[in-house]
Amino acid sequence: MAPSREVFLNPSSLLSFCRAHLDAMLEGLRQAVEIESPTHCRPQIDRLARFMAAELRRRHGRVRLLRHPAAGAAVVGEFWGRQSSRSRPQKPLLLLGHLDTVWEVGTLARMPFRVRGGKAYGPGILDMKSGIIIGLWAIHTLRSLGLSPASSVRIFLNSDEEASSAAFRRQLLQEARRARAVLVLEPAAAGGALKTSRKGVGEFRLTVHGRAAHAGINPAAGVSAISELARQILRIESWARPDRGLTLNVGVVEGGTRSNVVAERASARIDVRISRPADQVWIERRMRGLQPIHPEARLEIDGGIHRPPLEHRRAAGLFARAKELARPLGMELEEASTGGGSDGNLAAALGIPTLDGLGGVGDGAHARDEHIVIRELPRRAALLAALLAGL
Ligand SMILES: [Zn+2]
Repeated sequence: MAPSREVFLNPSSLLSFCRAHLDAMLEGLRQAVEIESPTHCRPQIDRLARFMAAELRRRHGRVRLLRHPAAGAAVVGEFWGRQSSRSRPQKPLLLLGHLDTVWEVGTLARMPFRVRGGKAYGPGILDMKSGIIIGLWAIHTLRSLGLSPASSVRIFLNSDEEASSAAFRRQLLQEARRARAVLVLEPAAAGGALKTSRKGVGEFRLTVHGRAAHAGINPAAGVSAISELARQILRIESWARPDRGLTLNVGVVEGGTRSNVVAERASARIDVRISRPADQVWIERRMRGLQPIHPEARLEIDGGIHRPPLEHRRAAGLFARAKELARPLGMELEEASTGGGSDGNLAAALGIPTLDGLGGVGDGAHARDEHIVIRELPRRAALLAALLAGL
């Protein structure tokens, strides 16, 4: 019954509890940052997964590690699950996060965890170790204050989000599909705004096969893969439709062996962003349909859109509720859209209400000055606790 929960839910008590435990939150965050966890470094991801699993169990979560031969462990936890079958028939809420970062092992040596001027710095601190800590403390806060959500709460911590979420995609989709709403612990947009739309993301690789020849003695016998690739790149770039949010970036080209050899092989990697779901088919069809310009060149194309767009309509209802719940916490929540994708895209594409950007507030994700604003930590944890209890 929503009204009685409203009475029960005293936002200022959530916030004062979180503020009183800021030191403990920050200590947990330090420990998480100091377990370096680059995507695909299995032993390190596994260490962080075990650490997070222990933290979740301390909050009475039922926790499992998922294994995969080519990736570190993912973590699945459940809270308030036992009672849900009888008195709480609702589908669970799902918290979505990722353990992996873009920082290689050894980064800590030159970029250690440190606190200065009200900010905390370190590799992966914003994207997204602070988000996981916020999730953990939202649960901890509700438990400590004797509050419970209207349904069970599940948490899924992926291990290869920074590399397109291939390993546990099936399990992730399964978790999202059974949830009534998905709350994504990715960093906030500038100024603490929540992310209510995200572009879809794809990557393609175009490989050109030509024919090698001596550039001085017999150039006409060759088919230059580089020349073909250059012309294909111009063609591909002409497909951009920035007015409707479709952009393309040829970010990597490789090819050839020596300057006196007509290049036999060349390849390009192309990043694609889309705002409209319909553009997935549009761009994939064009990419796959690429024809050689030189009649004797051969093209090979693979890849595709691996994260569909997170459409605003999936987030709008949840954002309105979050805005309402944030006001008594002294927060005037804003919303933002971003060109970057997350696992939130995957959940939203299933038609599940999804709200993203509930993690830390800061700047410099994937950059040397990556940091969070410390005083926002308790506010974000209180906001998330209010959402869990108030949805
Ligand atoms: Zn992230």
